[in-house]
Amino acid sequence: MERTLVLLKPSVIKRGLIGEIITRFERKGLRIIAMKMLWMNDQLVEEHYSHLKDKPFFPNLKASMQATPVVAMCIEGLEVVRVVRAMAGVTNGRNAAIGTIRGDYSMSNQQNIVHASDGVYAAGEEIARFFKPEEVFEFGDLNFNALYAVDEVEA
Ligand code: UDP
Ligand code: MG
Repeated sequence: MERTLVLLKPSVIKRGLIGEIITRFERKGLRIIAMKMLWMNDQLVEEHYSHLKDKPFFPNLKASMQATPVVAMCIEGLEVVRVVRAMAGVTNGRNAAIGTIRGDYSMSNQQNIVHASDGVYAAGEEIARFFKPEEVFEFGDLNFNALYAVDEVEA
């Protein structure tokens, strides 16, 4: 089953929206298989956003990610990388479709509520960056028949 990394950014912690955002993933039928709160140090922010390190907004982005701890989650599901990106919406909350997480909770290009891995390969790297193998749990097929058809997972 595919996995992705989601971060609830500091604006979520400041605004008291942790439960509300997590609920959206649970309601969709996705399974949270790892979760922790942590303060991202300089190295972690610089690795996580290495593709943006030369951008003029990088210092602000870094500060915004270190304003409070973040909540990191590993989420599992069929095609979960694509599904969670679709749930997040486009980067800028002002452009994100209403009904997406960013579209419903953000007015900002930077304070945009969630990080979500943008591909399966990146997801693997990001999960390993935030979680030790023993912090990611496998706990069987709870509710499995309510979430997927048997032939969907055998395909
Ligand atoms: N970001 C920003 N200004 C920009 C573009 C991005 O502050 O012009 C921030 C924003 O918080 C975004 C993060 O940098 O979520 C990572 O950017 P990326 O292009 O990877 O967007 P994402 O994958 O998060 O949609
Ligand atoms: Mg990205």
